[in-house]
Amino acid sequence: MNTSYTGIGMTSQRTRMRMVERLRQQCVKDEIVLSVMGEVPRHLFVEEALAARAYDDVSLPIGFGQTISSPLTVARMTELARASAAQGGLNKVLEIGTGCGYQCAVLAKVAKVVHSVERLVQLTAQARKNLRNARVTNARLRHGDGHAGMPTEAPFDVILLTAAATHVPDALREQLAAGGRMILPMVKGDVQHLLVIDRTARGFTEKRMDAVKFVPLLPGTG
Ligand code: SAH
Repeated sequence: MNTSYTGIGMTSQRTRMRMVERLRQQCVKDEIVLSVMGEVPRHLFVEEALAARAYDDVSLPIGFGQTISSPLTVARMTELARASAAQGGLNKVLEIGTGCGYQCAVLAKVAKVVHSVERLVQLTAQARKNLRNARVTNARLRHGDGHAGMPTEAPFDVILLTAAATHVPDALREQLAAGGRMILPMVKGDVQHLLVIDRTARGFTEKRMDAVKFVPLLPGTG
């Protein structure tokens, strides 16, 4: 058995429940999301030196100038994903910006399969390791530029970007299933907001949600 899982994992169960209570006070209402966030061992997705802060309501550095999103941001995005109009629940989800793999692990608990694309090769490898430690078996990671999406696996019930875009990539729009939903941080001037795009039988509808702060969606790979 993995020692990091049995060690801090045991003691952090209480800390994780406190995080869930805080999320409830911050108006996260979806009980499934709250329960899943109470299960996923967030401390396994950050460096050991930062593990004690893993359940605080903050984003933390994960190396290479990137960050793990705060618990509240992950909860909100997962709530929005679950509220999509996809028939019969979430079968296939695409995440752009795997980072350390935490959002991917949370999504994997509410979807049949999650595909996740990361542009940095080192983070792809790290996320693979983290997801294995957390015993997530229904996530498929790929190193690449998320602007292209994953045409071979399309269509997706949900496409979720965890890096801020200045425009909606056309390829991603096309890879949405009918009834599907895209959730992305959109940059306008100095501010970012979550944008929710629903694909209906007649086209696309857009809704602007909470203010957020994400690292930028960058072109190419590294
Ligand atoms: N989902 C992560 C957050 C990762 S931060 C979490 O659970 O906390 C955003 C990530 O998006 C970074 O790792 C960054 O390298 C990646 N990224 C930025 N532009 C990208 C692109 N075009 N394609 C794929 N990944 C990208």
